[in-house]
Amino acid sequence: MAGAELIGKEEIKEVMDVLETGILMRYGFDKERKGVYKVRQFEADFAKYCGVSHALGVTSGSAALKVALEALDVGRGDDVLVPAFTFLATYEAVLEVGAIPIMVDIDDTLNLDPDEIEKKKTPYTKAVIPVHMCGLAANIDRIVEVARKNNLLVLEDNAQGCGASFKGKKLGGFGDMGTFSFDYVKTVTTGEGGLVITNNRDLYLRSEWYSDHGHDHNPNVGRALEGRSILGFNYRMNELQGALGLAQLRKLDYLIGEQKKNKKVIMDALAAIPGVGFRAKQDPEGDSATFLAFNFPEEQRALKFQTLLAAEGIDTTCYKNNLWHYVPNWEHFLAFSTANSKKHPFTDPLYKGKVEYSRETIPHAEDILGRTLVMGISVRMGDERLDAIRKAIEKAAKNI
Ligand SMILES: *Cc1c(COP(=O)(O)O)cnc(C)c1O
Repeated sequence: MAGAELIGKEEIKEVMDVLETGILMRYGFDKERKGVYKVRQFEADFAKYCGVSHALGVTSGSAALKVALEALDVGRGDDVLVPAFTFLATYEAVLEVGAIPIMVDIDDTLNLDPDEIEKKKTPYTKAVIPVHMCGLAANIDRIVEVARKNNLLVLEDNAQGCGASFKGKKLGGFGDMGTFSFDYVKTVTTGEGGLVITNNRDLYLRSEWYSDHGHDHNPNVGRALEGRSILGFNYRMNELQGALGLAQLRKLDYLIGEQKKNKKVIMDALAAIPGVGFRAKQDPEGDSATFLAFNFPEEQRALKFQTLLAAEGIDTTCYKNNLWHYVPNWEHFLAFSTANSKKHPFTDPLYKGKVEYSRETIPHAEDILGRTLVMGISVRMGDERLDAIRKAIEKAAKNI
């Protein structure tokens, strides 16, 4: 639960700053807001934290993906490479802009396998979306390298990797654009919220315009007189979200540090079990330690261990069986059941490719996700809880 566990007086103070002015909107009201610009400040601090030049706050991580895809000019007739293991939102965002998601296998990092890019791309592929799942980096430098060679744009879905890094550089800043989610269960939370980052000024501006009905945010005129060159929509972050984000961002490095300590205790207990292995890491230092993924040589043993741990009150997830994070389990997606009766964009005549989402095309995901159990790591676990987990692991290990 990370950031949500730490909501306290710092968040209250930031939110009160906003409520005292009464200006909940991020734009306009320059006189009335008495210098309080929480979203703007949050964006500046977040960009600095990530080491990129631009950040744009939006309403959710899903909206961030959509805004970024619009800025990158991905749309009808295009397809986009997306890993088989991700939250549904990554696929929904591609469909939202009228493009088709292509399902790609994962590697031992549990993230998109760079070696699959050239095998899965079609003549219509415009972009690849590596997703840094469960707080750990995809093989991102290789992914960017292969994408560049093949003329593909890279959009990092970093909803689950906020604060995580790869070789000292924060995730989200490797590709053309990166996105974050601040929903209630993410590493940093603003209740609901999201953010887009980029080093490309044109992409930033297109995102900013798109997220606010095309407004060009010309500082020299009032909002009613601002210019516009593209149509957009409303994905504006509000000041209360910006205020929460500011307080939460300041706690990010602390919370990652605490999670790392807790994760290590549990990892040490698991490492004593013969045959247990851990998720491959490109860069262990860069782990945001929001989750711990461990594996067994066979699926049967993993599931048995899961049952034994559950009996002790310890929950784990086997993502091969999860309803929301693994494409083969999305019966509505596989039936092309978009919200419109025409099943667009799957039936869009502008798209000339052929789609296939069968399990046979993702053998590595089928294998590794079936053998892997994932445990959530909290900031405040306490010695008692950690002890209980350690004992439960020892007991389950004896009976497996
Ligand atoms: C949570 C999540 C999203 C969507 O973020 P919301 O803020 O909930 O819309 C997108 N991608 C991944 C990988 C996520 O985990």
